Amino acid sequence: MSNLTELTISESLEKLRAKEISPVELTEAYIKKLEDNKKYNAYVTTVPEKALEQAKESEKRYMSGANKPLDGIVLGIKDLFCTKDIRTTACSKIIDNFVPQYESTVTQNLLDDGAVFLGKLNLDEFAMGGSNETSYFGPVVNPWSKDVKLVAGGSSGGSAAAVSANMCAGATGTDTGGSIRQPSAFCGVTGIKPTYGRCSRYGVIAFASSLDQAGPICKDVRDCALMLNSMAGFDEKDATSARVDVPNFESFLGQDIRGLKIGIPNEYRPDGLNEEIANYWDKAIEMMKEKGAEIVNISLPHTKYALPCYYVIAPAEASSNLARYDGIRFGNRVNGKNMEELHINTRSSGFGKEVKRRILVGTYVLSAGFYDAYYLKAQKVRRLIKNDFDEAFKKCDVILTPTSPIEAFAIGDKKMNESPINMYLNDVFTVSVNLAGLPALSLPIGLSKNGLPLGMQFIGKAFDEKTIFKASYQLEKSVNFKRI
Ligand code: GLN
Repeated sequence: MSNLTELTISESLEKLRAKEISPVELTEAYIKKLEDNKKYNAYVTTVPEKALEQAKESEKRYMSGANKPLDGIVLGIKDLFCTKDIRTTACSKIIDNFVPQYESTVTQNLLDDGAVFLGKLNLDEFAMGGSNETSYFGPVVNPWSKDVKLVAGGSSGGSAAAVSANMCAGATGTDTGGSIRQPSAFCGVTGIKPTYGRCSRYGVIAFASSLDQAGPICKDVRDCALMLNSMAGFDEKDATSARVDVPNFESFLGQDIRGLKIGIPNEYRPDGLNEEIANYWDKAIEMMKEKGAEIVNISLPHTKYALPCYYVIAPAEASSNLARYDGIRFGNRVNGKNMEELHINTRSSGFGKEVKRRILVGTYVLSAGFYDAYYLKAQKVRRLIKNDFDEAFKKCDVILTPTSPIEAFAIGDKKMNESPINMYLNDVFTVSVNLAGLPALSLPIGLSKNGLPLGMQFIGKAFDEKTIFKASYQLEKSVNFKRI
């Protein structure tokens, strides 16, 4: 079979279980694909030998009938998840040679379910960015690029690009303000940011701890359900991990959505919203109506404060989390005459421009005198944003909005790079979800006139991923998006 790497996870599992293909054969196909697709710069570390070892173990389990839920499925791991004995860098120079002694809970869960890891995927440095251009290892190239090299989105750009170019069957991502959903939208794949607390953050390098959440990026909705089944669950190693049952997400796919109330927030349709995206949104609404869903208009009045609120809270937490990279305990060191100089030299050389900017902003908003004016105020606004969603969910079961106000843009795009604010504005539809701790899934809705993928997102109530899966699966069927 020549196109094994084009199979979805569920299709691969079917063939593996029927013994039509073997895990080793499947892994070899991905290793080949990896070689052919180096130009996308999706992986920063590959471990093909390790992957083949894992595939051989998986093969034994299939032979003995002891195979596990994801046995033999080849995955890529965002390089923000600590993987035992495999270099983990957060795509930062400051820890570019860090080899963890332990495995993150999420990746351990996947390994326990029989997954094969092919390597570590590129991302924006410490997941700070929306285009994967802040990575120490250089930008990821969007596989949908034609003449001009386009960004894959960020921060999980490597994950989305690898899935879309068939360099792994599925990938892990993390989402602090949109980093699973936005790159998924840019690369024409599907990704879900689960409810805060659904997946353990243990062993995930911290960006903004009250917002960070791990989730899968896959070819379709079913694969996301399968991967999330494995990734999610209570973990006593993470104090914010939730003690709630993980339902079998796959069991909700195909369920009837007649009478399901879908909320449409008018604040997400500002004047000047890209017309193509607005049209696709309308189309998605029509498709859901045809399936029997009921459309309700809702209001999320504090939406306009979400971006400033996020860009106070996220840097505040980042500045605190990144204090640990001091040249003593972790990663690289650049010596100096005394301790202070050592810190300054290490951090000046180890962090990139965007990370430094966030540390400066974060330290500023947390400093005495400004704390009340910025940080505390942002926390109050965060509560109002959460309240908006609580009110809205009294009227609807799930919310439908575009994922991003734009399509993938050129690497090095002048406008995006001339001011950080221009880049931050792209997160307008994603950050509220993280501030409120809610789950949201992005799926492809179609192509723009430039032939680039656009995404729609379903936002759900806390721990109600099942309704998101139900609704997304139906929309996906209507859209019938053609992957690469
Ligand atoms: N683009 C957002 C930021 O730069 C979100 C990043 C993320 O979700 N990790 O902060």
